[in-house]
Amino acid sequence: MKLEKRIQELGSVLLTDIREQDDGQHWLDALVNYAISDPQFRLQTLRFIDTLPSLDDDVELTRHLQEYFGNLETPLPELALWGLKQSDKPWLAHIAAPLVRYTIRGLARRFMGGNNIQRACNTVDRIKRVGMSSSLDILGEASVSEHEADNYQQAYLEMIPAMSAHMQAWSDSEIVDQLHGRAAPRLNVSLKLSSLYSQIDAADTKGSVRAIKQRLIPILNCALEHHAFVMIDMEQYDFKNIIITVFLEILEDSRFRHWPDIGIAIQAYLRDAFDDLSRIVEALNKRSTPASVRLVRGAYWDYETIVANQNNWPSPVWLHKNDTDANFERCMDFLFSEHPVIETVIATHNTRSLAAAMVIAKSYNLSKQDYEFQMLYGMANVLKNSLVQRQQHLRIYVPYGETLPGMAYLVRRLLENSSGQSVLDVALTQERPVDLDKPEFSLHEEDRITSVGDHFCNQALYRFAETAEHDLFEQELSHCRQQFDQVYPLTIDGKSCLTKQTIRSINPANPEETVGILASASQQQADAAMLSAKKAYVFWRGLSVTERANYLRKIANLLQNRRVEFAAWQIFEAGKNWREADADVCEAIDFLNYYADQAERLEQVTVNQSAGEQNTLHYCSRGVGLVITPWNFPLAILTGMLAATIVCGNTAIVKPSSQTPVIAAKFVELVHQAGLPEGVVSLLTGSGAEIGEYLANHVDIQVIAFTGSMAVGTRLINIAAQSHSGQTHIKRIITEMGGKNAIIVDTDADMDEAVTGTVSSAFGFQGQKCSAASRLIVLDHVYDSFLERLVETSRSLQIGAPEDPGNIMGPVISKRAYTNILTAISNGKQQARVVLNDSVNHLDKGYFIPPVIFTEVAADSVLAQQEIFGPVLSVLRASDFGQALQIANNSQYALTGGVYSRNPEHLQRAKNEFNVGNLYLNRKITGAQVSRQPFGGYKLSGSGYKAGGENYLLQFMHSSTITENTMRRGFAPKENQQL
Ligand code: NAD
Repeated sequence: MKLEKRIQELGSVLLTDIREQDDGQHWLDALVNYAISDPQFRLQTLRFIDTLPSLDDDVELTRHLQEYFGNLETPLPELALWGLKQSDKPWLAHIAAPLVRYTIRGLARRFMGGNNIQRACNTVDRIKRVGMSSSLDILGEASVSEHEADNYQQAYLEMIPAMSAHMQAWSDSEIVDQLHGRAAPRLNVSLKLSSLYSQIDAADTKGSVRAIKQRLIPILNCALEHHAFVMIDMEQYDFKNIIITVFLEILEDSRFRHWPDIGIAIQAYLRDAFDDLSRIVEALNKRSTPASVRLVRGAYWDYETIVANQNNWPSPVWLHKNDTDANFERCMDFLFSEHPVIETVIATHNTRSLAAAMVIAKSYNLSKQDYEFQMLYGMANVLKNSLVQRQQHLRIYVPYGETLPGMAYLVRRLLENSSGQSVLDVALTQERPVDLDKPEFSLHEEDRITSVGDHFCNQALYRFAETAEHDLFEQELSHCRQQFDQVYPLTIDGKSCLTKQTIRSINPANPEETVGILASASQQQADAAMLSAKKAYVFWRGLSVTERANYLRKIANLLQNRRVEFAAWQIFEAGKNWREADADVCEAIDFLNYYADQAERLEQVTVNQSAGEQNTLHYCSRGVGLVITPWNFPLAILTGMLAATIVCGNTAIVKPSSQTPVIAAKFVELVHQAGLPEGVVSLLTGSGAEIGEYLANHVDIQVIAFTGSMAVGTRLINIAAQSHSGQTHIKRIITEMGGKNAIIVDTDADMDEAVTGTVSSAFGFQGQKCSAASRLIVLDHVYDSFLERLVETSRSLQIGAPEDPGNIMGPVISKRAYTNILTAISNGKQQARVVLNDSVNHLDKGYFIPPVIFTEVAADSVLAQQEIFGPVLSVLRASDFGQALQIANNSQYALTGGVYSRNPEHLQRAKNEFNVGNLYLNRKITGAQVSRQPFGGYKLSGSGYKAGGENYLLQFMHSSTITENTMRRGFAPKENQQL
């Protein structure tokens, strides 16, 4: 209690101190205040600043101003409004645009210490002169290619010796040079580890740690040699485990064991922060040389909460500010209690936290030399002065570098300053009260799982941020491998049925490995399956919708319990990487639960009534359904089409792809474990052309659900249209077919996002998705620069057996696919220029094809028109956005498409004119989620309603309307008398 009183007293003194000073930054504060008061203005301002670096044309810039701010209801100054209205006048653009750039550059200058090393030297000199030290950070967010990661490393390797030499010339200053009872390095650098490895991925912690260390160790050696301190920054939650692991391994490394000049940042807004600190202390106790921990609150709060929400993950950050504050103090107390093993750095602009730090440090008998404060360049200047007057050690975090890569940093700072929940309680001193009360945990534990209301909730993907998820995958992969070579029979009438002829399913990463041996059905067996399906139909159709829906839910539960096992089979049999395999299983679970709900919803559908009559609408089953599935989403698509067929009261014969029959067999086994009556689902593995076509022709088939190529799909449509002798119905066929999907990259696109989104859309699962990007249309103005980065990023993708999570790309599915794709590439070289076509010498066994990029592709060429189901991307040039849309629409397919642009008018045009079933703006074009992005195309991409959408089930049923005249001799039951 005494401690608390002292904290409050010191806090009040600090506040009085700073209120008497003048920050001298009123114009920015006015802007910030304005932004806080109007969320829409804040959003548009941040978006505009984010776009600005890409607007090097004056007219473009003013046009963007008009589009971002022209329609805002916010009362902008008259002059500004008039200016916005004239935005199409070039003379005005040439006056306004430089003015806007000047203003934003001014803003940037406030938070950044210069755009080159010379300017940064001037900045740190100025900081030193007022009795503060500095930590330099070279601006640059994530590196999107290994080439960029090399450049980032190189920048530090050049900066450290140069800056160190510059600082050696400084005159001595006790406050800057003496810390922890020894000579403190004058040069202190902060480093973002994610920028040292472009392929950093939580699913591949070991590989990421290895690759980061390879580039980090030369930097550390350089720092050692030049007596510099290295502070490792903390970034988004997904990388936390990787960053901490790197740090702990460096602490144990014999080269750095006795080096105290290294530290790591820990974010108090993370719920794990305290446990992480305990891990670090444990490691430091073992090594007996101290290291630093910089305690921060954390700068990615909005990002972390949005990402967690979007993916149905528990939030890794505290959702209430007072919890973060309380955690900050708890961690701070712990750090001070562990002195001298830990050398504490308190990074805050919060008055209460500063006062608490000083009081708590004193309570552990620490002197001012035993810890330091850190603050950001350009923020809370009055607080800084106050600390310097108290002879506290204060280090200023100074980012420097080009404005373009620095824009994300600037936006983060502005976001923080204008959030209304800002830690910056003194920048806006007079108006807002400053809370000096002791922060307490609110214990709102339920807030951790973000509420989804009563709408459908997708199965959450694995985040891989925790090691337990890795262990599960590794165990299941080894477990599956032990079950290779097993024989899988057909399932007819609930019974297993072996055949003489078999299909060998191989591991495409190593075709010598047999994943399983499958029975291959004959026409007689197809007839037997048909007979049993017809028999089972009589009982199955009689069940209530809820009874059938509950079977689906039961299957979903069983699948959920075995989700990693099913993912592991896909890794081996389909060549999917860990994340892709997990996503496929989650989608299958979603289909089961979603269609169960939808079937029940359709049962409740009502129609209008009229006096004296009763109207009802009923959906009823059709009969026996044939489900023909592809290999590329071997579980999700099979499950979706099968679930839809049976929940509507039909029985089903499943004919899966012969490339992934083990997964199909495992799933049908699971379906029967759920207790489904015999004959409701039969499994006929076998040749598509033989057994698939035979069944499609069968007179008793009522509905065909097909997903696969356009050639087979259109053939089946013809077959279904024919009527055979004795046939009394028209077959219903639902086809989901191919695509030749395009992404447009506009001149003002966020290039980092566009590059990574395109690469993942084009080469994710080796380009073997119907939704994959195979055409890229880039606007002339950014064509060359974009292409250069695209090639480097694609080249950086690691390729190899997908059981190693570091391999983002695996093999293509089969020898036939391998040969076909290579032929298409070789033909393509006659039509266009190839800019990426590397070979992979170390992979001699599997069907591996690294990314291929063609450029200057003609819009009507075969390359730009035919689906090549593999990692081949054709790049086309467009002179303006209208032409880009024209090229995109020039296709026989209409499945998915995407646009990267920050031009509101262009985004709106794309919504109106881009002819595709699924359009994605400013994100990758693959990975549709059930119910959130109902999926399917038109033109030659498919017929029918979207999978995972509200209308899908209607295709598997007939509907009948019943109208009863309830009026007899002029009277009717009471409920039918009036409406
Ligand atoms: P595919 O057309 O070769 O085979 C699909 C299924 O049809 C397999 O089960 C196959 O055995 C069977 N089949 C083959 N010939 C048949 C015939 N004559 N009669 C009846 N059945 C026959 O396709 P695939 O290689 O398995 O899958 C890749 C294709 O699927 C690509 O074109 C891709 O774009 C498309 N696809 C589309 C979607 C979508 O939702 N639109 C989703 C996934 C895949």
